Amino acid sequence: MGQGNEGFFLKKISAFMKNTLACVIFFSLLGCGADKVGNVDQLNAESQQKIYRWKLITTWPKNLPGLGTAPVEMAKRVAAMSGGRLDIKVYAAGELVPAFGVFDAVSQGNAQMGHGAAYYWRGKIPIAAMFATVPFGLLAQEMNAWLHYGGGLELWREAYAPFNLRPLTGGNSGMQMAGWFNREIKSLADIQGLKMRIPGLGGEVFQRAGGVAVAMPGSEVFTAMQTGVIDATEWVGPYNDIALGLHTVGKYYYYPGWHEPGSALETIINQDAWDELPEDLQLILETANQAMNQAMLDEFTARNAISLRTLVDEHGVIVKKLPDDVLQAFREISEQVVFENAQSDELSKRIYKSYAEFKNRMTAYQAIADQAYINVR
Ligand code: CA
Repeated sequence: MGQGNEGFFLKKISAFMKNTLACVIFFSLLGCGADKVGNVDQLNAESQQKIYRWKLITTWPKNLPGLGTAPVEMAKRVAAMSGGRLDIKVYAAGELVPAFGVFDAVSQGNAQMGHGAAYYWRGKIPIAAMFATVPFGLLAQEMNAWLHYGGGLELWREAYAPFNLRPLTGGNSGMQMAGWFNREIKSLADIQGLKMRIPGLGGEVFQRAGGVAVAMPGSEVFTAMQTGVIDATEWVGPYNDIALGLHTVGKYYYYPGWHEPGSALETIINQDAWDELPEDLQLILETANQAMNQAMLDEFTARNAISLRTLVDEHGVIVKKLPDDVLQAFREISEQVVFENAQSDELSKRIYKSYAEFKNRMTAYQAIADQAYINVR
């Protein structure tokens, strides 16, 4: 079982207090070591006064509600809590580097921080998708539970360590929608040859089911749909999709989001930049991220429901459920794809095992918890 974040924070605070206490005792014993105390005070004062100016690059279009605005809010909190000592400037996709250049730029230290989703980096770390979302996998709150209290975050750190990156949970968009389709999907036959923007493992499943999966950042989705480069696209859910205007370029809005049942976002920090931060700023940064992680899920949950109503009532969007045979096929292929994806090395196998065991426990529990309740509400 992994160590919870709560335990992690307490340990850090306690280590910090112990160090401080040890210093006080040490210099009290020195008695006449006033010069030395002065030097330490001076050092502390310098570290307290130093302003760390960081760049946070994101994979999101500028000011995109939820995904794009959350890191901006997080940076504001860090500035306020640190009295301006950690000053984080947030950049949208393309302002400093393209969306899919975020991982490398932070890994190499060209920016200290990044915000995106782990499944974008499947080309480098195939197993990374498991830290974002897995088709027919964990729901948002279950994902938080696995990452923070089920050993997931420790495994994530292990997977990113060779890239000099330290990951933190950076939000969750909740249950997504299956997406916008310009062709009605009546059976699996309608998926054949369909060109759809769909990233991660979901994309691979879609491809094996006979579709054509295309990966592109959010900023390009609208134009690709409008010009017919793609026939379908998934993005997030009602709240974000309405912001991108997808209802004006897509005819049918399908559910459920089988491919992304609770997509975790990530904050990545360059390990050297992290190591340079004084302990209190590290704690502030982690705490602000933790707040962002939960706040984003709360925001998406509340606003998805409002935006769905707007899409249907004001824009006449046709909402449809994917046919059972399509979902059944996606589900069967998903099991195979997720398993195969985890066979490349020892760490990937461990990550898969941890996730699969957690999911099995959760499925048994949810049958008598949320699932049972929602069915009778
Ligand atoms: Ca998505």
